[in-house]
Amino acid sequence: MLAKNKAAANATNSFTKCSFTTHNSYAQFRTILGLGYAADIKNDADIFNSDVVNGKRKRMFSTTTNNNNNNNNNNNGQTKFKVSEDRVKARNIGISAHIDSGKTTLTERILFYTGRINEIHEVRGKDGVGAKMDSMELEREKGITIQSAATYTKWRESSINIIDTPGHVDFTIEVERALRVLDGAILVLCSVGGVQSQSITVDRQMRRYNVPRLCFINKCDRVGADPWKVLRQVREKLRLNCAAVQIPIGLEEMHDGVVCLVTMKAITFHGQHGNEIKISNDLPSEEMRKLAEEKRKELIEIVSGVDDELAEIFLMEEEPSVEQLKKAIRRSVVSNQFAPVFMGSAYKNRGVQLLLDGVCDYLPAPHEVENTALDLSNNEAPVQTVSDPKAPLVGLAFKLEEGRFGQLTYLRVYQGTITKGMTIVNTRTGKKLKVPRLVRMHSDEMEDVQKSECGEIVALFGVDCQSGDTFTDGTINYAMTSMRIPEPVMSYAVAPKTRTDSGNFSKALSRFQREDPTFKVHQDEESAQTIISGMGELHLDIYVERMKREYKVEVEVGNPRVNYREAITQKAEFDYLHKKQSGGSGQYGRVVGYIEPIVSENEDGTRSTEVIFENGIVGNAIAPGYIVGVEKGFKEAAAGGGLIGYPVQGIRIVLTDGASHAVDSSELAFKIAALNAFKVAFKNAGPKILEPIMKVDVTVPNEFQGTVIGNINQRKGTILDSVAESDDVVVTSLLPLSKMFGYSTELRSMTQGKGEFTMEYSSHSAVDSSSQEELLKQFSSS
Ligand code: GDP
Repeated sequence: MLAKNKAAANATNSFTKCSFTTHNSYAQFRTILGLGYAADIKNDADIFNSDVVNGKRKRMFSTTTNNNNNNNNNNNGQTKFKVSEDRVKARNIGISAHIDSGKTTLTERILFYTGRINEIHEVRGKDGVGAKMDSMELEREKGITIQSAATYTKWRESSINIIDTPGHVDFTIEVERALRVLDGAILVLCSVGGVQSQSITVDRQMRRYNVPRLCFINKCDRVGADPWKVLRQVREKLRLNCAAVQIPIGLEEMHDGVVCLVTMKAITFHGQHGNEIKISNDLPSEEMRKLAEEKRKELIEIVSGVDDELAEIFLMEEEPSVEQLKKAIRRSVVSNQFAPVFMGSAYKNRGVQLLLDGVCDYLPAPHEVENTALDLSNNEAPVQTVSDPKAPLVGLAFKLEEGRFGQLTYLRVYQGTITKGMTIVNTRTGKKLKVPRLVRMHSDEMEDVQKSECGEIVALFGVDCQSGDTFTDGTINYAMTSMRIPEPVMSYAVAPKTRTDSGNFSKALSRFQREDPTFKVHQDEESAQTIISGMGELHLDIYVERMKREYKVEVEVGNPRVNYREAITQKAEFDYLHKKQSGGSGQYGRVVGYIEPIVSENEDGTRSTEVIFENGIVGNAIAPGYIVGVEKGFKEAAAGGGLIGYPVQGIRIVLTDGASHAVDSSELAFKIAALNAFKVAFKNAGPKILEPIMKVDVTVPNEFQGTVIGNINQRKGTILDSVAESDDVVVTSLLPLSKMFGYSTELRSMTQGKGEFTMEYSSHSAVDSSSQEELLKQFSSS
């Protein structure tokens, strides 16, 4: 159990050392505040076991809630087994923000107050140490966070995993994995900047994954701070049903603390690190009391709108007790119908401890979230995982990290328990392995643990796997993420600038490939160049940058290339004889048959990408030993393309007849015959070039709608939808990737910097005939 192990004990020790003068003072503080401490949390367990279960938040993937599967739920979705107190109190959270809102500073403060670090280092601070969570040098320098990492810490009696969520949209797989793993989040907003473009993006991602969130309006100490304006923006721009649970005591340099609207007490923060906390029943002024009363009323009214129990009290015109209000807020947050808004200043150490209380009080425990696995033995049918430590193990490797300790694999346990020494199975590869060592990470330091139960996050040592792999105990065949990985849409040719770097160059590439299934590396046979492919320009740029920083390899980068594909549109026959019988050993092979497009679509409506070879020969026109050569020849030809050198996809090659020679035939002769047969047939099969089509969401203020739509049309895009969201409009369209180069700059200038866009791969579609001609021309002149 968490609380019993050494790590937890250490955490509590250091917690007493640096968070508060004594452990008791914090307990007293909570009691005075009416928030309760350890004893009170027992009551929280009751809340979990009763009220909230029915309001369980469902993951987006949970399209079906299967009560007949092997889980331990009854028809109400209520768990039969007892959820331990430790797990009731566990939290897996993410912190998301627009860049520069103070996410790193806030994380640093959280680690400090929870006793995981003994000093505070500012972002880009003069001490050169940098904030703890920015463990990658690149992040440290840029002051941004681009990779997720999980940090374990403790607050009150809750174990909290902070999962760092990368904000950029190009990292779809990484963002999605991080969002799957966390159960709740803090959305950090700047009290001056308010809801900015990236806040909208990260909020949209959380909405997509149904992640309940608390808002923290940071930087209340800054000149121009206006938390109420920000709160209005959260309502209008993010459409979050939210209300303040605090009001600030003073703003700008007068910002001292907050009034808690649940308890109506004034809390101010003093001392060098804000850890001397004063709590008072007397609010600083009559004016503030009036504002607090007004805002408390608003809070109750808004929560009543989504919580029946509170609504009853509200309609009776009764005043809810602190406990009733707290429970109502918790229920409405867990069911993701309400977002409480906290305020403060991370930098000036105001309000962070109360935000941590909010995490414990309001965000869901892991077992309150329904998670869905895909049953690989049943065509990826969705099955709900069970929060029972005794159930068969299901864990998702959501991140790999090559650090100074060797390779670490971060695992979120969704079901069952993983223990040191146990044998686990990777359901992607079917490979068994023994768990050599389990550790819990604190940024880049670690502590050993013996086991980890469902709802927890651990890191495994020395395990060979890829990010996104699922591990089980071998009795079930589940995967937490689909095996269907989107195709990379863009490529660069890369090479180390100096030969001496080639060792590190290969090492870096193989590591990145293991970490990120959307990042691929291959060798171009003709040019002998190394080609890296990924999901967009930034995606690839970041890896080039990481090679430089982490592996000290300077990289030469070629022009970006779109990953085209080739396909055929009609059936064409072939009858090809490869014959060379003059002098030396001869060559002889004849292949007859046809090629045709695969018309069937995948389940998700996408075009088939398969290359299927079928041997339809009845009898022995070609000796069976040579068929291998035929297949090799056709597959090689299809991989090399017939128009502009890109792989052919969605094609069936059927061999119906042929001829061989007793002496001169060989596997090689048949391979050559097949290669040439393909070339001839391909030309007659209505070949087409396919290009990646991206689904693009552009969010702009209303007045730019016309301009943006006009521009999309110019770029040969298809508008799918245009939805007004308060002052903004979101235009969804399909656009060829080749038309997206330089779009961010153009959008910026079109919209005075107010527009933003996200883009994801949708499909490969045929280019129009003029583009095809142009591409063919380019290819023949290259
Ligand atoms: P991130 O990009 O969201 O991780 O933001 P950082 O934590 O890197 O903060 C960006 C800048 O804002 C840094 O210079 C911080 O020192 C500063 N900052 C962060 N929080 C506060 C705050 O509460 N008040 C003020 N005045 N500055 C802050």
